[in-house]
Amino acid sequence: MKLLTLPKLDYEYSDLEPVIPKRIMELHHSVHHAGYVKGANSALETLAKARSGEMEINVKAVMKDLSFNLNGHLLHEIFWKVMKKPVNENTPEAKIKEALEKNFGSIPAFMKEFADAAKSVEGSGWAALMVNADGDMVITQIEKHNLMSIVGYRCILCIDVWEHAYYLGYENRRGEYVDKFWQIVNWENVEKLLMQK
Ligand code: MN
Repeated sequence: MKLLTLPKLDYEYSDLEPVIPKRIMELHHSVHHAGYVKGANSALETLAKARSGEMEINVKAVMKDLSFNLNGHLLHEIFWKVMKKPVNENTPEAKIKEALEKNFGSIPAFMKEFADAAKSVEGSGWAALMVNADGDMVITQIEKHNLMSIVGYRCILCIDVWEHAYYLGYENRRGEYVDKFWQIVNWENVEKLLMQK
C-alpha cells in the first residue's frame, strides 16, 4: 500500500516573512501538516487491514478520519505550492489573469470575493479557488478540511484560515493576514495548477 509523505517545501520557513513568521511555518509544516499525513496513513492502513479481514472496524469513523486527514494533507500540499517570497506588486500571470477575469469580471472582484470568503469562514477552514474541466471557476469555503467541498472541481489556490496558520503573527486579526496573503501568492504556480488537466 502506498503511504503518503510530508512534502519538502520549495523555500525556507523564513522566506515568507514578514507576511508569515518563520515559527508559524515551522510548526505548520512540521507539526500540523505532518499530523494530517500520519492521520491519513493510519486511516488507509486501517481500511487495508479491514479489507484483508485482519480486523473489524467502525467504517463510518475511519472514513470520517480519512476524509479529514487526507483532505488536510492535500490542501496543505497546494497551500505550500501557491506561496512564495513576498513582493509588493504581485500580479497574476497572463493565462490565470484571463481565466479569473472571464469568471469573476475583474481581478479586484475576484480578490474581494476570495478574501471575503476567507475572512468569514466559520471557525477553522479554508477559502479555495476551484476549477472544473470546462474552466468554470468558483470560490468556496471549506470548513475544517473536508466540509462543503465541491464534487468535480479541483483546487488551484487556497488560503488556510485555521488559527494555527496566523495566530502567532496576527493574534485574532485574521483579516489582516488575509489581506497580506496577496503579497505571497505564487501566481506562476497557480497558473501551472490551472493548466494541469
Ligand atoms: Mn493548516
